[in-house]
Amino acid sequence: MQLTNRKKVVSNKEQSFAERIYFPAIIKGMAITFSHLFKKRPTIMYPEQQREYAPIYRGQHVLKRDDNGAERCTSCGMCAVACPAEAITMESAERKKGEEHLYREEKYAAKYEINMLRCIFCGLCEDACPKEAIFLTDKIVDAHFERDEFIFGKDKLVEKMEQRVDVSKRQTPEVLAFKKIPGLKHNELFTEKLEKGKKH
Ligand code: SF4
Ligand code: SF4
Repeated sequence: MQLTNRKKVVSNKEQSFAERIYFPAIIKGMAITFSHLFKKRPTIMYPEQQREYAPIYRGQHVLKRDDNGAERCTSCGMCAVACPAEAITMESAERKKGEEHLYREEKYAAKYEINMLRCIFCGLCEDACPKEAIFLTDKIVDAHFERDEFIFGKDKLVEKMEQRVDVSKRQTPEVLAFKKIPGLKHNELFTEKLEKGKKH
């Protein structure tokens, strides 16, 4: 029974003189090689030249701070559970009095690590996060020589105060509209929460 139509009948005919000396085949091969000299090179001379990426390109993660600079992550573990590559680990800690400006929620991630060698940049951690704390950015993960260096901790993941990361370009208009809904409590600033608490 024939399973596919990709069968190819191999010819057993005797080779001609030209075929036996390989000369025409060599000329044909050289002609193909020379023709490539005049074609546009597909090689990108990275890092001097950079390829254009799609706006939704998923690269290195960032752990976002809120507008006051407090870390948004509450160490709930949703991202770790959603991660198909089991690349995320974390250790939680309780926020102490006076640390409200550092951590947005009462529980925070004292340790948060992503193994970039395991990560497949699927973005499921970003989708799972209820605090809009983790996002994938357009930054390409740097190359390293040692495997240990691909374990990214908070020092590499948490957004720097003086170097805020704009992730809005990667959001679809629907997502941006959803985030503007006033009822989303986790979008309130800590100071707003404080003010409300005083009133009650
Ligand atoms: S992008 Fe995907 S694989 Fe990478 S940490 Fe997030 S959920 Fe895991
Ligand atoms: S990044 Fe988001 S999902 Fe992950 S632990 Fe922090 S708050 Fe939870």
